Amino acid sequence: MEKKIPDQQHGFQTIAVHAGDQLDPITGSLTTPIYQSSTFVFPTAEAGGARFAGAENGYVYTRLGNPTLTVLEQKIAALEKAEAALAFSSGMAAVSAILLGLLHSGDHILCSKGLYGCTFGLLTMLKRQFQIDHSLADLTDESSLLSSIRPNTRIIYVETPINPTMELVDLAMIARAAKARRITTVVDNTFLSPYLQRPLELGCDLVLHSATKYIGGHGDVIAGVAAGAKDLIDQLRMTALKDIGGVLSPFDAYLLIRGLKTLGIRMQKHCENAQLVAEFLANHPRVQSVYYPGLPSFPQHELAKRQMDGFGGLISFELKGGMAAGIQMMNRLQLCKLAVSLGDVETLIQHPASMTHSIVPMEERRKMGITDGLIRLSVGIEDVKDIIADLSQALE
Ligand SMILES: *Cc1c(COP(=O)(O)O)cnc(C)c1O
Repeated sequence: MEKKIPDQQHGFQTIAVHAGDQLDPITGSLTTPIYQSSTFVFPTAEAGGARFAGAENGYVYTRLGNPTLTVLEQKIAALEKAEAALAFSSGMAAVSAILLGLLHSGDHILCSKGLYGCTFGLLTMLKRQFQIDHSLADLTDESSLLSSIRPNTRIIYVETPINPTMELVDLAMIARAAKARRITTVVDNTFLSPYLQRPLELGCDLVLHSATKYIGGHGDVIAGVAAGAKDLIDQLRMTALKDIGGVLSPFDAYLLIRGLKTLGIRMQKHCENAQLVAEFLANHPRVQSVYYPGLPSFPQHELAKRQMDGFGGLISFELKGGMAAGIQMMNRLQLCKLAVSLGDVETLIQHPASMTHSIVPMEERRKMGITDGLIRLSVGIEDVKDIIADLSQALE
């Protein structure tokens, strides 16, 4: 019997390179063609009707599906160990489609203590305009989790590690509590990528990414993906994606397919570099504190080892001189680039209080643990000695 390539017995990199591949029968093109077409020709009028009715497979219109997007979606599903996946025009398009697709007025969404700034912005809008309530709670211990669940809680929405404090949430514990109460668990897995953490294997229902970050990996595309059970993904495709319309372009899908092929080897290097940079910072006399799950001093180091296959490429730290010293240091960097975003091959550094989280009111920021002096570093894949040398001269 012919062997299916790849199957679930294959390793991560083999799946990343080969999953979803459909060799073009006409040209034999090795790489995935970019089907830059808005619409698809029906062979007959009857076939067109059958495709609209869902009685026949085949493409109709790119907002409903496109062959280049299908390859990307199959790769993401295989890597996240999901039945199906869906591509979006941005990470926020994925977040908003999931929340608008699954929530109703009167529902409550329970969130981890820290959230991506624009996710917080969206929740604020949902509350003000659509009577969908939310609360941010400490989900790190079970009693606090259970006491935060309300009778109308419909989704538990988690980021782990939490942006930018790196605090972790035990996903298996969340999934257990949610399942018993028929609550849907949604995990934003952007910070780790499926190479380092697979929430569905831990019992969560939906996983999403800003594919702009590690999945794309090269700082040249804005995109989002989500993965989960086929019926849930089909429901989102035919409601929140189709009717709200945050569809990814075929060219951008091609860039993500290309990025995914090196995801595993890039993540290994991000982790290796970040560990050494975190150790350098932790031992530097000008540094007050370092938050990195790979440091033995990190309070949840044991959970990190259990839940994640590596500690990731993101580090937050604070200088002894607080915000003023941090600003001075960031302005002196030469190799490391002062920019938001993360997960690129380049090392990027930013100041959450004035940049990514400036949308969050100061009081909420404090509750999230984002002090004014906190700096976030996304360690790239340059030679680590060069990253450390740049940080070292800037700290002088
Ligand atoms: C960047 C990011 C998002 C939003 O993604 P976009 O692609 O910028 O829309 C959501 N969650 C996290 C954790 C992110 O880092």
